[in-house]
Amino acid sequence: MTRRKGEGGHSPGEGSSSDRLLAAIEGEVVDCRRCPRLVAWREEAAAHAPRRYAGWRYWAKPVPGFGDPRARLLLLGLAPAAHGGNRTGRIFTGDRSGDWLFRALHRAGFANQPLSRDREDGLQLTDCFVSAAVRCCPPENRPLPSERRNCYPFLARELDALSRLQVFVALGGMAFETLLRWARERWPEERGQFLRAKAPFAHGAEIALPGKRALLASYHPSQQNTFTGRLTEAMFDAVFSRARELLESPLPRERRGS
Ligand code: SF4
Repeated sequence: MTRRKGEGGHSPGEGSSSDRLLAAIEGEVVDCRRCPRLVAWREEAAAHAPRRYAGWRYWAKPVPGFGDPRARLLLLGLAPAAHGGNRTGRIFTGDRSGDWLFRALHRAGFANQPLSRDREDGLQLTDCFVSAAVRCCPPENRPLPSERRNCYPFLARELDALSRLQVFVALGGMAFETLLRWARERWPEERGQFLRAKAPFAHGAEIALPGKRALLASYHPSQQNTFTGRLTEAMFDAVFSRARELLESPLPRERRGS
């Protein structure tokens, strides 16, 4: 397959199973028009670009996940921003949340640079994949429950394709709920043991998943949180330090080399 922009790190080589599955999902995602309200909104945003983006040719389609196909770390956000990912075509790219996120990933050694401007900016992720619960920008950043349900199968397939994932970082409460749903479906026989019916979302919360995997919760690096000091760089860095620590702890014998 053609390597996707923004990928880097441990390339499994041409034709690997993860690459093929991710490419197939990406093809379906970018053509999707399942949610009429969001299709209209993403195109509306492109048609009414603010002056600072005048002349930009907006992506205005669903935004696929991107990163290292052999990633052990997964970051999940809510949805692309109308003038961020919806403009650039790469998740978390071209907006303030992305500036925060990729700076933190660079500090933690998961990104080759702190800059995330557009799909040609040279950003490469290593051991890390970034995705979203909903692939089209929603009005007021609030997808409807039906839109979340419509989009969920893309994420579930992506997570299955990323077979080495070990640490899942949810950016915000909705991403946290989505990953909990996935975990319950992925390990139905163990749900009673490792997941309460409704685990509370809190920055720094950690839920152990089977096979020494873990789900970490973080406040979303939105301006609402970063401008108010609810989320500081030190708090954000602590999440990635913990993720790194978990990744460096030895795996059970049956999962080594998987
Ligand atoms: S939000 Fe997801 S399901 Fe809905 S149109 Fe966009 S890609 Fe399709």
